Parts: sequence; structure tokens; C-alpha cells
Amino acid sequence: MESTRKRTQHSTNGKPSEHTEQPAQWGRAWEVDWFSLIAVIGLLCFAPFIVFYFVMACDQYQCSITQPLVELYGGQTTLFTIWDRSPSFTWSAVKIYAIWVGFQVFLYMCIPDVTHKFIPGYVGGVQDGARTPAGLVNKYEINGLQCWLITHALWFANAQYFHWFTPTIIFDNWIPLMWCTNILGYAVSTFAFIKAYFFPTNSEDCKFTGNIFYNYMMGIEFNPRIGKWFDFKLFFNGRPGIVAWTLINLSYMAKQQELYGHVTNSMILVNVLQAIYVLDFFWNEAWYLKTIDICHDHFGWYLGWGDCVWLPYLYTLQGLYLVYHPVQLSDAHALAVLLLGLVGYYIFRSTNHQKDLFRRTEGSCSIWGRKPTYIECSYRSADGGIHHSKLMTSGFWGVARHFNYTGDLMGSLAYCAACGFGHILPYFYIVYMTILLVHRCVRDEHRCGNKYGKDWKRYTDAVPYRLIPGVF
Ligand code: NDP
Repeated sequence: MESTRKRTQHSTNGKPSEHTEQPAQWGRAWEVDWFSLIAVIGLLCFAPFIVFYFVMACDQYQCSITQPLVELYGGQTTLFTIWDRSPSFTWSAVKIYAIWVGFQVFLYMCIPDVTHKFIPGYVGGVQDGARTPAGLVNKYEINGLQCWLITHALWFANAQYFHWFTPTIIFDNWIPLMWCTNILGYAVSTFAFIKAYFFPTNSEDCKFTGNIFYNYMMGIEFNPRIGKWFDFKLFFNGRPGIVAWTLINLSYMAKQQELYGHVTNSMILVNVLQAIYVLDFFWNEAWYLKTIDICHDHFGWYLGWGDCVWLPYLYTLQGLYLVYHPVQLSDAHALAVLLLGLVGYYIFRSTNHQKDLFRRTEGSCSIWGRKPTYIECSYRSADGGIHHSKLMTSGFWGVARHFNYTGDLMGSLAYCAACGFGHILPYFYIVYMTILLVHRCVRDEHRCGNKYGKDWKRYTDAVPYRLIPGVF
């Protein structure tokens, strides 16, 4: 199913160069090799246990990830004992989770965005997504910031005035809630899988590899929807996981207060730095329509289960760790973490902003006080249309090809370093983000290489490093 395209090439100064034929590849792979297949089956079977292992290690072993293994190896415990000691499924957790997801669906579907009318500079309301492989441009109701604000206003109103539930509710039900998130994660992935075969939203944007496991994991439909507005990717990518992220951290903070009578500076740092990241996500939700998750990934278990389970449980490990180990950092350590987090965030945001500005103005803008330099490219989409694009070679995009990932990694390291150096568990996040973003970088470059052909080669010659100049 690879389409062939004829491209007009341009040099760095925008002049056209020779014509060439190249295969165009969109989204994820069309064919699955044995290695990918084994990895996919392994992840489908074991990923829920990885999440369980980390949370269980905190619950039963004070966040030591080696102690359970040592005890299992030494025969002091068994898998059944660990399983028996873990809190199980409860109906009260089901009730909490159902209310939570139902409320987020209600906010997403029933309250059109009004915040963009009075918050200067914020882009919300109905926005266009990127062009899909079949050449469609979907419309999205961007109201994530509003949902986040309403949810958090209610959270604080409850803590301060209403007292319907204790702010430690999330921590107190953390393992029973994991059952519920897994049920939703697998249910939504399975539903999306069946829907793709029997009633796809747009059949031309579906991708079948012929391998059922790969299709299930990486998704078939590009933009599954129910009705005109319920978009699976936008909903599950942002809410309920990312809206919950800051609430989960607040619940950990409340638990620290309850257990020790005070909140540590490390907990405040984790809450503040991660809240900046989450708020940035919602402030730029319209922009996220143009990122890889929405533009190129199909909706399957990877996004569905990942957004429901992996993200809320593993992105919040630092706060969970700090409930068990209330680390009070020295002023110098706290300041270093804050600086690393803020500089990382600045690089992440500025790099993304530079590309956005550059693409929006088609290069007619100023980057670091100068007109940006770029390589002009053209490509053919699956519907046969020829499109033109530009790859910037100045600003942060001239420093490295994915300097936004570098900033993201600096921020991620700051969250981990806020937990001190007592245990490995809080550092899982930086290890995971490094693997995720390096893999994403390679995946994206493979796709761009196929899409732009020789123009991509000219770009990689002009900007030779991916993440760290001179190193990688
Ligand atoms: P990018 O925002 O880096 O987008 C990559 C795309 O940008 C490419 O596919 C290409 O698309 C275009 N592009 C590449 N180089 C150039 C250039 N020089 N000039 C102009 N356009 C270019 O990637 P993501 O969508 O992955 O990431 C968005 C942000 O989200 C990142 O900052 C990342 O750190 C963050 N992120 C965070 C995650 C988390 O879990 N915390 C997970 C994933 C991402 P085209 O086909 O249009 O040319």
C-alpha cells in the first residue's frame, strides 16, 4: 500500500532542485517484523504487571524495587503472598473512577470552550487538526484548559468548603483504582479495534498490517470518533489521564500533610514543576493537534491503555515516593532542581514555539532576531495530492533536530532529582522518558526520511545531531 510520489526538491535557499520518485510512508509500519511482534506481545502481557510492580513496591516495600526480587529469590516471600497482600478491586473505587471519567466526558462533550474569549493569547474553541493521510482535516473542540480549571476549582472548593471527600482519596484508593483504569484501558482499546473492522469513522484512514496483535497494539483507525465530536485520541490523550496528573500529585501532598503534619520542599517542587508541564499541555492543546500523537499515531492499545494506566501511574511516581520518603532538600539542592526544571521547560517550550511560529508564518518570521533559514520540501499524500513543507535549520532547530526532546528530558530529570538519591524508583521516569523520546525521535526520522526523501538527507546534513550537539 505504499504510494509513489514525484517531488520537486529545493535547496536551502528555497530554489527548486531535481525531480525524484520516492515511496511515501504515513503513520506506523505497514509490515511487522518478528522482533516487533515479540515486543508487542510481551508488552500486551506484561505492561500491566510493570505498573503493578512499581506501585506494589511502594505499598509493601517502602518503594524499594530490588527488595521484592531479593525476597522472592531468597524464598522469604512468594508471588502469591505479594498478590494477597495487595489491596484488591473495590466497588467504591469503581464508583470513584466512574464518576471521574463520566465527569470528564461531560466536561469534554457538553461545555464548549469559553475561556478563549477572555484569556488573551489562548487558542481554544473549534480548531482544525492536521491533514490526515487520506487528506481530511478534522475539527476539534479544544476545551482542555477549561476542563482542567473547572476540575481543579472543584477540587479546591471541596477541600476548603464542601468536604464531600477527603483530598487523600486518590492515594487511599490507588491500587483498587488501578483495576478500574486497566478495565477502561483494555475496554477502550478493544472497542477501537472492533470498531475499526465494523464501523470505522473514516475507512480510508485505517491501516491493517495483517497481524492481529500489532493492529490491536498500535491501532487501526487514525481518528476514531463517536458522533461528530467525541474524538478518542483527543479525549484519552488529554483527559482523564493528564487532568488527573495534577490532582494525583495534590492527593499525595495531602497525604504527606496527614501523615507527617507538614509538606516537604521536594513535594512542592514536584507539584509545581509537573503542574507547569500539565498547564503548558492544556494551554497548547490546539498546538498538540499537530504533534505526532495526533498527527501520525493510530488509536490502539498503545494510546488507549497507555493514557488510562501507564501515564497516571508511572508519571506520578515521584509524588508517590515522597509520601513514603518525605525528603527535605537542602536549599542548594532545591534551587538546582528548580533551575534544571525551569531551564528544561524553557528549552522545551521555546523549541516547540519556534517550529509552530515558523510553520504558521511559512518562514516569514523572526527567530532569535533573524529571518529563519530552511530547506523546502514537497511530498505526496495517500490521496495523491502534492503538498509543500519547510524544515527549519536555525534557532533551536539548528542546534539539534529534536532539541524540544532535550528540554523535556531536562525537566524529567528535575522531577527525579527532587526525590534525592535514596532510591532508584523515582528515577524510573527519566529512564523511561529517554527510551520513549529516543525511540520517538528514531521513529519520526524514519517517517520523515520516507516522506521527504532526499530533502530529509539534506536537512540531516545541515543539522547533524538529534538531541545533544556533538554527542547524539
Ligand atoms: P515534534 O514537535 O518534534 O514534531 C516532529 C515533526 O515536526 C516532524 O514529524 C516533522 O513533521 C516536523 N519537523 C521536524 N523537523 C522540523 C524542522 N526542522 N522544521 C519544521 N518542522 C519540523 O515531535 P512530537 O510531536 O513528538 O513532540 C511534541 C512535544 O511533545 C515535544 O516537545 C515532546 O517533548 C513532547 N512529548 C512529550 C511526551 C510525554 O510523554 N511527556 C510524549 C511525546 C511528546 P512534518 O511531517 O510536518 O514535517
